[in-house]
Amino acid sequence: MSDSVVMGISIDPQSIHSVTNTSSGREVYRNVQNCPDDFPKLSERLKQLVSSNVWRFGKVTTVVISVCEHLQTFSNGRNSRLSQVNAAQLAIDLSNHFGFDCSVVSTSQAGLASDCNILDVDNGSVLSLSLDIGCSLSFYKNGKWSAQSLCRHWAHSPLPDFQWLIDGLTPVCRCGREACIEQFLSIEGIERQYHQVVLQDRSLADIFSGVEEGDIHSTRVYRAFIDQLARSLLLPIEELAPKQLVLSGFATTYPSLNKELRVALSRYHSSDSLPVISQNSQDSFVFAYGAALMAIKNNNNHLRS
Ligand SMILES: [Zn+2]
Repeated sequence: MSDSVVMGISIDPQSIHSVTNTSSGREVYRNVQNCPDDFPKLSERLKQLVSSNVWRFGKVTTVVISVCEHLQTFSNGRNSRLSQVNAAQLAIDLSNHFGFDCSVVSTSQAGLASDCNILDVDNGSVLSLSLDIGCSLSFYKNGKWSAQSLCRHWAHSPLPDFQWLIDGLTPVCRCGREACIEQFLSIEGIERQYHQVVLQDRSLADIFSGVEEGDIHSTRVYRAFIDQLARSLLLPIEELAPKQLVLSGFATTYPSLNKELRVALSRYHSSDSLPVISQNSQDSFVFAYGAALMAIKNNNNHLRS
């Protein structure tokens, strides 16, 4: 059986990351570029990206696109700002244009898929959380993704026990509501809270370094974030009772975050039944890489059936 070419593409409002693999699992190319800010341009850019891969490596047979919850669930379509793009429409466009199999997954699905060791867990249940430029949450039972309405709209549901005096007011979210979970837990959300408290801009990377160095403002913002994260995860943990919680995305990279999150969760929930919390290995290609591994799997399943 000859090797075919598959791609994993992750899209967020800032960038498009892509990883190109052969169906036998050899990675041949990585690319990152800026993301255009409207649907027609984005669709065009993706077509150029795929075409250049076809030209270099041969026919592409399967593509998986990873997006955050908002781009996955937003129901309107064309000719609108990127915050209102529906990823399913992009997948249909690409599929019609190139004739390959193209599907959309959430960043939390791609994040989990990027770590084969975790995905191999067949017994027990896993909650996968991604916190990055956007956020998303997915649930897996016996190694298989399980549709849960609780997860589908998690990032754009209200922050539990929101108190504006403690959590701070938010601007209007890209979904049109206010005080959404994503507005507190995304990279931008944490940076916005830093600005609200300190009245200065600081990148999340610098906030994390500040926590390491004992900087008082960074530590205060980080602790507030951990508490907001614990509150946001309480209901999914109680309802779905996962054995494992897997974290991916840049906002989950602080080295001791899993331990601090566990302590924060145990303030609200019996620590005996808390999931084991693990942080996925990270770089900015994590979602595109996970999507490419999913594309290999889809491609090979398709050939077998
Ligand atoms: Zn929202």
